[in-house]
Amino acid sequence: MTATPEFDYIIVGAGSAGCVLANRLSADPNVKVLLLEAGGSDWHPFIHMPAGLAKLVGKQGVNWDYDTQPQAGLDGRRMWWPRGKVLGGSSSINAMCYIRGNPADYDEWAALGADGWHWDNVLAYFKRAEGNGRGANALHGGDGPLKVSDLRYVNELSGVFVEAATQAGHTRNADFNGATQEGVGLYQVTQVGGARCSTAVAYLDPIRGRANFTVHTHALAQRVDFSGQRASGVTYLRHGRTIHATARREVLLCGGAINSPQLLMLSGVGDADHLRRHGIGVRANVPGVGANLQDHLDVCTLQHASQRVTYDRLSDAKVAFDYFLRGHSGPGTSNIAEAGGFARSPLAPDARADVQFHFVPAMLDDHGRHRLPGDGYTLHACFLRPRSRGRIELASANPTDKARIEANYLSDADGFDLRMMLECAKLSRAIFAAKAFDPYRGAPIFPTRDDASDEELLAFIRAKAETVYHPVGSCRMGRADDAHAVLDPQLRVRGVDGLRVVDASVMPRLIGGNTNAPTIMIAERAADLIAGKITAPQQTAAAPHAAGMPQGARNPMAMS
Ligand SMILES: Cc1cc2nc3c(=O)[nH]c(=O)nc-3n(C[C@H](O)[C@H](O)[C@H](O)COP(=O)(O)OP(=O)(O)OC[C@H]3O[C@@H](n4cnc5c(N)ncnc54)[C@H](O)[C@@H]3O)c2cc1C
Repeated sequence: MTATPEFDYIIVGAGSAGCVLANRLSADPNVKVLLLEAGGSDWHPFIHMPAGLAKLVGKQGVNWDYDTQPQAGLDGRRMWWPRGKVLGGSSSINAMCYIRGNPADYDEWAALGADGWHWDNVLAYFKRAEGNGRGANALHGGDGPLKVSDLRYVNELSGVFVEAATQAGHTRNADFNGATQEGVGLYQVTQVGGARCSTAVAYLDPIRGRANFTVHTHALAQRVDFSGQRASGVTYLRHGRTIHATARREVLLCGGAINSPQLLMLSGVGDADHLRRHGIGVRANVPGVGANLQDHLDVCTLQHASQRVTYDRLSDAKVAFDYFLRGHSGPGTSNIAEAGGFARSPLAPDARADVQFHFVPAMLDDHGRHRLPGDGYTLHACFLRPRSRGRIELASANPTDKARIEANYLSDADGFDLRMMLECAKLSRAIFAAKAFDPYRGAPIFPTRDDASDEELLAFIRAKAETVYHPVGSCRMGRADDAHAVLDPQLRVRGVDGLRVVDASVMPRLIGGNTNAPTIMIAERAADLIAGKITAPQQTAAAPHAAGMPQGARNPMAMS
């Protein structure tokens, strides 16, 4: 064991949340911050060239490459869960869609016990993070570190999708993060100058020179160390050496929705019976650790294109030439999932959109890992508020073993999630059938017929649905009297001191949209909580947000 210097804060995980915390906390020159990242540096050009995300799929070295346990509701399939293992974490491999969710989602959090996390409070943190190229207004930030841009290059089929969706009854929306979430249009993306703006780019690169800040890559945290009930540091493995680092103030876990609960359990914080089964001493019996796991299940409808306009057979050389030699131009700047939007299905229980679309002008089968011949286009549709709940469990007490992911998709008692997936497939089919696609429409691929019955569509969903990469909730926050909450609303771990979790796992409920910007918001606000900058009145919950969830319309707790 090699001794290392002491730090005030040790942050585990340099992902969407960890990079934000590193930046904000080390802004105070009087505190020393250590950031540990299991992956390596983000040097690879495919991380930074947006369309490189297609090439990152399955790339060793930047991905944890998880597989879930077999899913009973999905023909017993294991689902592939990519997660970033590199500086920037999943923000270095994601699809860059900039989405916050519905304002009412955050009022729902507050109603569930996440005091202080209602929309009127979190909006300021979304804005503080955001540097939107369209400029600042009441709902947007213009000069934050996370650069948000309109796409530089848009495939003609993405415009066709928007037109077709309006013909199918959806409204156009130029800003899903504006006054209304519902509607279809082009996504804004987390990019700067045509390149990916991960949190490593946005928050780490500018602070590399800070004398009070240290980042260690290839550093796998193995456990949180304790002095009594107080977190006193982290033991981690780096280049074959076991290192112990001391935290004078706090240890902050930012490992994401799979790794943070795993690390808590490895450190003796979790369900006592589960820990004992793996021979781990119990420091705090917190049964909620790993529970409440939620994700967006997604069904992709694929159609052949009758014209060669898709990205399927694009020349790599031409893409690279335009991107690298012609000032970040051309299809290399595309995030591939260029267009999409939000819709209310006939089953929507409240005023919020409950379905999200991502349109891809290419054929996307098995996350792009299975290449199909020819040209085609894909429409992802996911149900935004699943009622099924999964769980992260230890596979063993060995920190280098992957945790078990019991995703439990489509396991809700009344089958609502499956009925919603059927709605998703039908909404997609209606859009693909609209007139705007007439000049481009070839034969259907998945499902194989465009007049499939409900039974056939359900079989198709069980056979083909996949994650759209938004696992959250496995260390959820809640009130002190909530026995299954892992954290209090200040994100402090129950039963111990000096330890917080700050990442996507803290969400009490999955928001209606992509999860990168919400995770960054969580970390922005956490930084103020940790530094003691948030005053008590901010911790009280406000009334439900009028735009999304009408007051008195329903009790959000009644959903589960
Ligand atoms: C393929 C893909 C596409 C996506 N597309 C979008 C999108 O278009 N828009 C959007 O908003 N969201 C998208 N998301 C989701 C979004 O990126 C994530 O929700 C978000 O990045 C989660 O942030 P996090 O901080 O919780 O975890 P991560 O960003 O995953 O960060 C966790 C970090 O901790 C490190 N770590 C874990 N365990 C340890 C350990 N023991 N020791 C040291 N380090 C450790 C990891 O290596 C990683 O760097 C996508 C995700 C994926 C995977």
